[in-house]
Amino acid sequence: MAAASDLPHAICVELARDAIADGPDSFDEAAACDRAVQYTRSLLAPVVNATGVLLHTNLGRAPLAFHHPPQALNVEFSLLTGERGSRQAAVGRLFASLCGAEAAMVVNNNAAAVLLVLASLAADRQVLVSRGESVEIGGGFRVPDVMEQSGARLVDVGTTNRTRLTDYSKALQRASADVALVLKVHPSNYRIEGFVEDTPVAQLATLGVPVVADIGSGLIDANCPWLSGPPPAWLAGEPAAKQTLAAGAALVTFSGDKLLGGPQAGIIAGRADLVAACAAHPLARALRPGGHVLFALQQLALSYLDRSAATSIPFWQMAATSVDELDVRAHRVVDAAGTGAVVASEAVPGAGSAPGTAIASVAVSLPGDHLAALRAAAPPIIGRTRDGATLLDMRTVHPSDDAHLAAVVAALPAR
Ligand SMILES: *Cc1c(COP(=O)(O)O)cnc(C)c1O
Repeated sequence: MAAASDLPHAICVELARDAIADGPDSFDEAAACDRAVQYTRSLLAPVVNATGVLLHTNLGRAPLAFHHPPQALNVEFSLLTGERGSRQAAVGRLFASLCGAEAAMVVNNNAAAVLLVLASLAADRQVLVSRGESVEIGGGFRVPDVMEQSGARLVDVGTTNRTRLTDYSKALQRASADVALVLKVHPSNYRIEGFVEDTPVAQLATLGVPVVADIGSGLIDANCPWLSGPPPAWLAGEPAAKQTLAAGAALVTFSGDKLLGGPQAGIIAGRADLVAACAAHPLARALRPGGHVLFALQQLALSYLDRSAATSIPFWQMAATSVDELDVRAHRVVDAAGTGAVVASEAVPGAGSAPGTAIASVAVSLPGDHLAALRAAAPPIIGRTRDGATLLDMRTVHPSDDAHLAAVVAALPAR
């Protein structure tokens, strides 16, 4: 059994013991090997994302190449002074430049960013939130629950479908000096249509209370200056950090691994005094990112600032590939595999970014459901099914995986 798997000896012994305990009289080598295979397949592994969901939360959202030599990193050491430095200083300054903010800092994820902002700036005080934005983003992030954990008191404003500036000003008059913040939450993963109205940040900023905008997706600039053409249509309506701050938000919070295209992280950017208050809160230590995440974010910020993001950030490479190019690649895969058809497909941004929008794409279609066999490939390929066919969407597949895709498709058992 140990010979049949690459698992450490100690794990093999554990699995053999389990097998014997389950059926002392019927222990057989094959069943034990089966356990080893299952164990191996339960481990984290690089996979080929052929789902057409660019930011697939179950597949780690934004793909990111990251190599770091086994070397120390001056995470908290200033090379200028030779003294202890701040782990937030370098990356914070870069993200401040990117967003047009006075200051910025990084935490573990965006949920942590919202929690830290509320705990630091609004504990035991009131925070106004529109009833239309008191949302669940998924995976346990619910605005009322985060609010409760932070010690801030949620004040519901307006109605589910419409909340106007006057709703906020009335709530403010009622609560008087006890209101610490207005929180605006982008309802990332759904869209209400019809008789709806929300209050833009520019209007909220006139209330005289700091406005915190949780924009979620981490689009840096609505104009996408890192792309060669105009912003893609599917981004329309997605709030961007730069424009939200320019409209008067005191702080924005967003994820590192959504439209930003980086590692899992949460960014807080805006007024220097508010960022400093967040950094000084005891929770900041518990929510801080490690050196590798900071380093990856630093490289990412530099590539946005020198406008090379479209070619150096895998997410933007996927998003910016032309349909013609995908079509050529899909035909190559079908030709090499000797099976399958090239069909038009629709990819989606995913991770709750730009909900309801689609990105034109191209897929390799195979009759029947081959998902399990594709998942068993090494590396595994994750596809989807539609109308009784298996679709492998080329937009989310890295071109270097095309040959593997073709080889696995060629070897699929007939259905
Ligand atoms: C995704 C999202 C979050 C949660 O961000 P994580 O980085 O996954 O913790 C919070 N708020 C909004 C608006 C989001 O879109």
